[in-house]
Amino acid sequence: MNNIKDTNETVEKIAAHFEEIIKLLGEDTQREGLLKTPIRAAKALYKSTKGYRGEDALTIAQKAIFEHAGSNMIIVKDIEFYSFCEHHILPFFGRVSIGYIPNGKMIGLSKLARIVNVFAQRLQVQERLTAEVCQAVAKSLDAKGVIVACNAQHLCMKMRGVEKPHSLTTTSDFTGAFNRPETREEFMNLIRRG
Ligand code: ZN
Repeated sequence: MNNIKDTNETVEKIAAHFEEIIKLLGEDTQREGLLKTPIRAAKALYKSTKGYRGEDALTIAQKAIFEHAGSNMIIVKDIEFYSFCEHHILPFFGRVSIGYIPNGKMIGLSKLARIVNVFAQRLQVQERLTAEVCQAVAKSLDAKGVIVACNAQHLCMKMRGVEKPHSLTTTSDFTGAFNRPETREEFMNLIRRG
């Protein structure tokens, strides 16, 4: 992890680039409302991409894995996330639902949300985000199967008029027991229900 001095230097470098971009867009960077915009934008971007710099997903998971004797599907629904599309550096955001069939272990719910954040808070595509969360959960739990479904809105598509304002993009990925269509169906039915 970076120390505070390195972090400040990095954020200041990003701010200098933002100032240049604002000029290139045709704005007056000395206008009152914009004076602090480069540093604010740099801090916001740096903070929203902290998935590059914190603990990795497996380290986070290991802190909250418990023994669990049950064999029924466990579902954590609608974990909110915010990410940046790696093609346009514009936000995409939505919800991730995770299901797994335990194999002697379960994971603390808040850790699943942190794992989603680790992968969301960087430049991403929705398909890879979905797959990375699935792999990380599968690896840390050694579960009989893991499934991840992700619904998101992409501002790069909406702002440019490529997509209708309310449309959602859905991706999913799964391992093990979820290769069976009936098991996937069970998960989908459970997350659809209120
Ligand atoms: Zn995009």
